[in-house]
Amino acid sequence: MKKTIGQNRAVTSKWRPATQAIRGGTWRSEHGETSEALFLSSGFTYDDAQTVAARFAGEAEGMTYSRLQNPTVQMLEERIALMEGAEACRAQATGMAAMTTALLCQLETGDHVVAARAAFGSCRWLTDNLLPKWGISTTTIDSRDNDAWKAAVQPNTKVFFFETPANPTMDIVDMAYVCGLAKEHGITTVVDNAFATSVLQRPMDFGADVVAYSATKLMDGQGRVLAGAVCGSRQWIEEVLLPFQRNTGPNLSPFNAWVVHKGLETLELRAMRQSDNALAVGKFLETRVPKILHPGLPSHPQHNLAMSQMKACGPIFAFEVDGGRKQAHALLNALELIDISNNIGDARSLMCHPASSTHHSVGPEAREIMGVGEGMIRINVGLEDPADLIEDLDRALKVVGL
Ligand SMILES: *Cc1c(COP(=O)(O)O)cnc(C)c1O
Repeated sequence: MKKTIGQNRAVTSKWRPATQAIRGGTWRSEHGETSEALFLSSGFTYDDAQTVAARFAGEAEGMTYSRLQNPTVQMLEERIALMEGAEACRAQATGMAAMTTALLCQLETGDHVVAARAAFGSCRWLTDNLLPKWGISTTTIDSRDNDAWKAAVQPNTKVFFFETPANPTMDIVDMAYVCGLAKEHGITTVVDNAFATSVLQRPMDFGADVVAYSATKLMDGQGRVLAGAVCGSRQWIEEVLLPFQRNTGPNLSPFNAWVVHKGLETLELRAMRQSDNALAVGKFLETRVPKILHPGLPSHPQHNLAMSQMKACGPIFAFEVDGGRKQAHALLNALELIDISNNIGDARSLMCHPASSTHHSVGPEAREIMGVGEGMIRINVGLEDPADLIEDLDRALKVVGL
């Protein structure tokens, strides 16, 4: 293997995310393959015992074992880091492996975390259940409220953890303010950027320290694999994240890394087109449903903030019907084109009822505080012709009396 392009960071780090997504960190074998090589190998062999010793001592570069590193995975990490404007990245088995690793690698008993209350269900499980069980206290707040972040800081606060836009309420965090506040207090910000990805929003440009991903979503974008990633400074990745990751093993498989490589090639194209389609579908729904939460529409209370942080609105938004769970389920059941599915970021349009799926485990009380009502529906708008999606929604809405 030789690093044909990725090696010269002085040149490549200037490329924009859409270029990085295709070219960043390219690493080719002696065959000069066009597409990324797939190294399905758990281990590696050595010419001599001295090489083994040098690699384990960190004195020589090279592979040792795929829990520590794998060429296909390493190329993906380099690429995601370059897209993000981060110094380093480590791929993870899933988005939740990424969130868990990003938090646990730096926290210990006695620490405190401030987290956005509107978050992916499993992220809420981490802050509500896992961390407190190990003596790490957490405060969940309304992440839209800058003063709430400030008021929640304690002397032992170590981490701020949030998504923006948030799943599924589309709450927007003022990243420049919140990351600035964290810096003042020596707090590390961990941003879950799954809804946007680096082609739509780069939290590090606003001062975020760590950006964590479910690469299952827009990065793969075609519903094939689970994957995750954590980006940070080189020092943080090497000194804080790596000891945890290497010894606990939440690693991404090389095959899944290879699939994500294929997804990244079209990421910008998909994210921009899906944003356009989401805007078209949102404009239609706005005329038909009582409430819509869509960062791309001026009716969203934080529309201006969202659009000042994002290049486009992204494919996901939420809306509400008045008739609660019954009407929401009936609407899903009346769809003919759009699938009922709790995934997002996919090229297919998908809809789900968060209260009975992604946010079921959060419980009714926490859902109420988060703003996840019984009539809320989340939609991921795909790459189909938006006119067909609008026709499907129009028909289904009529079926349920809307
Ligand atoms: C899906 C998702 C996750 C979890 O990712 P997996 O790849 O499913 O483990 C975390 N955060 C957000 C915002 C998500 O949408």
